[in-house]
Amino acid sequence: MATFKDFRNQVKPNWCPGCGDFSVQAAIQRAAANVGLEPDDLAVVSGIGCSGRISGYINAYGFHGIHGRSLPIAQGVKMANRDLTVIASGGDGDGFAIGMGHTIHAMRRNIDVTYIVMDNQIYGLTKGQTSPTSAEGFKTKSTPSGSIESSLSIMELALSSGCGFLAQSFSTDLKDLVAIIEQGIEHKGFSLINVFSPCVTFNKVNTYDWFKQNLVSLSDIEGYDPTNRMMAMQTLMEHDGLVKGLIYHNPTRPSYQESVRGYSGEALSKQNLTLPEEKFQELM
Ligand code: SF4
Ligand code: MG
Repeated sequence: MATFKDFRNQVKPNWCPGCGDFSVQAAIQRAAANVGLEPDDLAVVSGIGCSGRISGYINAYGFHGIHGRSLPIAQGVKMANRDLTVIASGGDGDGFAIGMGHTIHAMRRNIDVTYIVMDNQIYGLTKGQTSPTSAEGFKTKSTPSGSIESSLSIMELALSSGCGFLAQSFSTDLKDLVAIIEQGIEHKGFSLINVFSPCVTFNKVNTYDWFKQNLVSLSDIEGYDPTNRMMAMQTLMEHDGLVKGLIYHNPTRPSYQESVRGYSGEALSKQNLTLPEEKFQELM
């Protein structure tokens, strides 16, 4: 049985010392081992940005895609090989700006892919510009007088787009992050995990200390119920999205591959068709 060390390779990450993405990489490796995967059971697909390099740093199948397109590739991988566990990954710019259309439609579609976003509220690879999750008033080279755009409420958007597994975490909370990624992998459908992953080089506002002071743990909110969509939305709005933990989980919605006629034995039986799995395999 594989351990997290089996998911390591020889490539040394070239992230800046202290970058939050190191922990996300370690968490994926640990979660993959904890759910019983072997390296050849896993595919990691990434987009463009500092965090996009992650697919090269994990010993598994990897695909470093083009900007904002990790999700189309990841969904294609899953549909072509349903036996693989597929993780898509990237940053807030990659997923919530150029890739936003794909993000919304992947949530609606519900293919069994775990999407892990390393959200640092800035464009790090291009040396520090305002991103969709930067706060209003945020000053960068691209907004020297402060951003006049509002920050994207990605979790509220995901909740209203039909995402059945929605969580946030913080890159220093390794134990919690590993557990959330395990749950995301095990969820049969699309899962979105937004990880606050500080950019220590270009974002001097949303630092490790800032997140420690501002993030509210859902486990500290009495009576919080992650199966209650209305409660999830209200809590997100009350805390301006700055919560961590499992925000919403709906395990009852069938995944895309369970629903497409002819894609799987489950899909056939759901539609009262009797083609046996062996016959289906022959036809494939
Ligand atoms: Fe990480 Fe920022 Fe350095 Fe990129 S620029 S590697 S996001 S710390
Ligand atoms: Mg970013």
